[in-house]
Amino acid sequence: MLIDTHVHLDFKHFDKDRGEVIQRALDAGVERMVNIGCDVRTSDASVVLAHEYDCIFATVGIHPHDSDQWGDDVANKFIVQAKDEKMVAIGEIGLDYYHMRKPEEVQKKAFAGQLALAREVSLPVVVHIRDAARDAYDILVESGLERVILHCFNEDLEFAEKCWAKGWITGFGGPVTYPNNERLREVVEMAPSKQFVLETDCPFLPPQAHRGQRNEPAYVKEVLEEVEKIRGERMEVVYPF
Ligand SMILES: [Zn+2]
Repeated sequence: MLIDTHVHLDFKHFDKDRGEVIQRALDAGVERMVNIGCDVRTSDASVVLAHEYDCIFATVGIHPHDSDQWGDDVANKFIVQAKDEKMVAIGEIGLDYYHMRKPEEVQKKAFAGQLALAREVSLPVVVHIRDAARDAYDILVESGLERVILHCFNEDLEFAEKCWAKGWITGFGGPVTYPNNERLREVVEMAPSKQFVLETDCPFLPPQAHRGQRNEPAYVKEVLEEVEKIRGERMEVVYPF
């Protein structure tokens, strides 16, 4: 089963043709899509969308960009939402020192807090890391969580190997198709067969053939083709959620 493990179909980019975009994905053989929450509003929207479409599953989480939203009220809300039958993970959560839209300490607190919450509700986590690999790794190890998906993995092979050794999963998307991304293709080539998943992160990061345009879940097939080309094998099906 082909799954797009990371979509933002609730975003306004899809307001005009959401149903058609989802149908195109189904027609392309993408049977499931996981709609990812980034803050309180998009987490709510993910749950709504998952109830509207059988093929869509949901996560709730506070992205590092909005980490100042994190607190007891949000935690309690997520605990209730986590019981939803379509809920598959807590995310996306993590650290982003590249944009640093919120102070490091605020990001760390929200990240650690949501990892603890994931443990409490027994759900995997979807993690966003940018220029913060060392801190993110330490906080993840400390959490003791095993079901970890490092979404849109963009670190080097050495870091990838540390993460795979912990049993974590790396997510690969459109950037594996970018001509100047040899470093990432090396990671794709070396990934253990049950420790990676595919994603689009749509509407962002379209594969090379669609650069400059809106990304959509149907294009995860192009990521699949590139990954199979790099690895020289048909991809094994992974069910991370
Ligand atoms: Zn995302």
